[in-house]
Amino acid sequence: MDIGISRIHYPVTTLGPGKRIGIWLQGCSIHCTGCISRDTWQFNVNITTIDELKKVLNLWLPKCDGITISGGEPFDQEPALSKLLKFLHPYHKSILLYSGYTFDVLKNKKDIKEGNIDVLISEPFDHKESQTKRLLGSDNQKVHFLTSLGKNEFEIYLNNLLEKRLDVQFTNDTVWMAGIPVNGMEEIVEASAQNNVHISHSQAVIKNNKE
Ligand code: SF4
Repeated sequence: MDIGISRIHYPVTTLGPGKRIGIWLQGCSIHCTGCISRDTWQFNVNITTIDELKKVLNLWLPKCDGITISGGEPFDQEPALSKLLKFLHPYHKSILLYSGYTFDVLKNKKDIKEGNIDVLISEPFDHKESQTKRLLGSDNQKVHFLTSLGKNEFEIYLNNLLEKRLDVQFTNDTVWMAGIPVNGMEEIVEASAQNNVHISHSQAVIKNNKE
């Protein structure tokens, strides 16, 4: 089965406890204003197969502390997402999944009812909301502990203070970042500009387009 993957990274230390595998799915139909992952919206690009994805994940699964799945919108590829979750489940590593759909839309999904996701963060990003909570892009988003593993690993972690920290890695001529940039990308852009480093990013594109 095919799956659209924007990127995969290990270790990601800013999207949940421990050293995690970060999987960003490609394609999102929700289009929240102010999304910092606009590069993940397009469908039918960055296609691979579940079998190829498994080969990469197998390198890291024995040593990771958990897996964080984001996007893009993971539930926009529901059959492939289900296959991925079924592959990951037997490893007993906590799975955190971000979705921009409301919990009302998601609550009857098979993977949620069957406990294939340990912690779900639901609701679309709202750029008008404040941002004071750990792991949340905006305070309207909701955390759901769907298994005891998720509750045990995330409850205390989430009560810790919001931290201004991002994973940053340089790969050839690109730089990737993981985490929730507090106050969006602007602080990062301004700080970089003071050091003569000029960053273009998807949130800036959205602002320039006055979306
Ligand atoms: S924040 Fe998430 S759900 Fe919203 S547009 Fe961006 S990728 Fe899609």
